[in-house]
Amino acid sequence: MRRCLVWALACLITAFAVVGALKPAYATAGCRVDYAVPSSWQGGFQGSMTITNLGDPLSSWRLGFTFPNSTQKVVQGWTGTWAQSGRAVTVTNAGYNGAVPTGSSMNVGFTGSWSGSNPAPAGFTVNGVACVGAAPVTTSPTAGDPWNPPSSLVSPLAAVWSHEEATYSDLFGFKNYGWDQLFAAGGQLNYCVRWDSAAHVTAAQRDAIAGALQRQYQKWVDALLDDGAGWNNWPYRQVPVKVVGWAVRDRAQLEWSDPAVDIYVNDISENAPQCGTPCGRFFHQDGDYSGCPGGASHHYDHSLWLTAGFSGGAGGDWGQRIGSEYYLSNLNAENIHILLHEMGHTYGLDDFYDWDPTPGQGFLMKAGSATAITDFDKWMLRDWWRHLKTRYGR
Ligand SMILES: [Zn+2]
Repeated sequence: MRRCLVWALACLITAFAVVGALKPAYATAGCRVDYAVPSSWQGGFQGSMTITNLGDPLSSWRLGFTFPNSTQKVVQGWTGTWAQSGRAVTVTNAGYNGAVPTGSSMNVGFTGSWSGSNPAPAGFTVNGVACVGAAPVTTSPTAGDPWNPPSSLVSPLAAVWSHEEATYSDLFGFKNYGWDQLFAAGGQLNYCVRWDSAAHVTAAQRDAIAGALQRQYQKWVDALLDDGAGWNNWPYRQVPVKVVGWAVRDRAQLEWSDPAVDIYVNDISENAPQCGTPCGRFFHQDGDYSGCPGGASHHYDHSLWLTAGFSGGAGGDWGQRIGSEYYLSNLNAENIHILLHEMGHTYGLDDFYDWDPTPGQGFLMKAGSATAITDFDKWMLRDWWRHLKTRYGR
């Protein structure tokens, strides 16, 4: 999925983005996990999980869940390889139990320790896909689903959706939209900054870059809320966005010594510094961050690629790319509109270079015609949500 913004210069096509466009579709995934505590004693307990495969047959699996409390620890697990990083636990299949046919179940168990309280994990993933108790149906909105845009937008929205169906190579097969990433991460997102510039960066700039990113991201989240409540069963009012890493050519460019972010030095890809691939969602869509130093909590979902002298933009499942000078000079702007436009692409929204569904009105995803998320942008985003939401059990 590659979309780009012709702002002043020609659209820049990167190898990284092309890889995204060529990613194969994933098999249909669906699972249910039943969690039980057969026995518990002061400070310890036995846990058991039964995984039922409701999707295509699995040849290998990786179960993930997060303990609600930091005091909950796996002491010893069986029927797989167990790992815990902070509250996050993963179990990878053993050699003999990787295959799980459709409709079959298998069980894993462990002994654990706890103090204070011992609540059950709230959710589980198998191979990075949230287990919502049913195989996702991803072909059409649920019958009776609310679809209540302003009447003047109904026809333009239908035209946009038809255009996407006609022009996207694998609209419903693609499983790494921003939506998929957000749900796989449980409603929060990690970013890594690719600092594609020779300039130095202060700690204050670093923090301002992260702050602006959070504020801009929330603008799209707000487009899914009505009076603070999620439209059409949308679950997240706030999406915490955390910058966990920076990639740079020369460590000396970063004028801080605190350990606030992971730092990747001189790992060059597409002629730009890149954050470590073992930690990147784009490279590990199965959610396996076992090669990431620091573990899963240090992984990043999106890259924010900031390039010196770049006046356009690009966005996709890998993240967003905009000019470093543009971003730094707009950190306090209410709407960093090129960034917002590229975030829209991460969530599947289309470009409009060759046609206009709302002639003369202007909207953010039609580059150059608006500088903030409009009502039409909001309803295009909602159209994506109603088409994909069953993937996430909503
Ligand atoms: Zn665009």
